[in-house]
Amino acid sequence: GAASMFKLGIHAAKPLAAAPGPADAEKPYTLPPLPYDNDALEPHLDKETVALHHGKHHAAYVAGLNGSLEKLAAARAAGDATLISALTRALAFHGSGHVLHAIYWTSMKPGGGGTPAERGLGKLIAREFGSFEGFRAQFAAVTNSVAGSGWGVLAYEPLGRRLVILGVEKHENVLFAGAVPLLVCDVWEHAYYLKYQNRRAEYVNNWWNVVNWTKVGELFVAAS
Ligand code: MN
Repeated sequence: GAASMFKLGIHAAKPLAAAPGPADAEKPYTLPPLPYDNDALEPHLDKETVALHHGKHHAAYVAGLNGSLEKLAAARAAGDATLISALTRALAFHGSGHVLHAIYWTSMKPGGGGTPAERGLGKLIAREFGSFEGFRAQFAAVTNSVAGSGWGVLAYEPLGRRLVILGVEKHENVLFAGAVPLLVCDVWEHAYYLKYQNRRAEYVNNWWNVVNWTKVGELFVAAS
């Protein structure tokens, strides 16, 4: 949980202990820089899509998250329960968007693909899904069938100490409390439409070529 969040670079701009107070506190969330160039995932993900997706879409989630926190502070001060309720939904929407996009970018790397390490994550994938091919087929089936905007997610579920594949629709809603996302594939249309138009399955199929199994394995170790 907390440990993996820090690994992803999702953290307060300053340590909480050093934050002097709300009056002069910095905005707590920042857009993490892409860990590679905009064109580094070509030809599977095109340069323009990655640039827009990171620089506009993900950036908007970060701005919305900070804005929600600021507005919540004002609504709290005003004792406006109705506004607090609406803003809490906005907080979850932008917060989930920020976290899932941060994991999405680190889920990929130039020259990625292949399979996870045999030990650790690879072993658990084989145990849970029968084989890597079985995992990949289930992940693709779930991701391709997400209705509208959403995500395919591989997550570690600590209560049963197992891996689960989730299809996330309306990402502000929690689908499996406590499950830690390890690998996510964005299937909102902005993630693929410029290059693939309505051919989502083709995008997902090519996406496997850039999966960063090293990073996914690190998140697994931190979560388990
Ligand atoms: Mn997106």
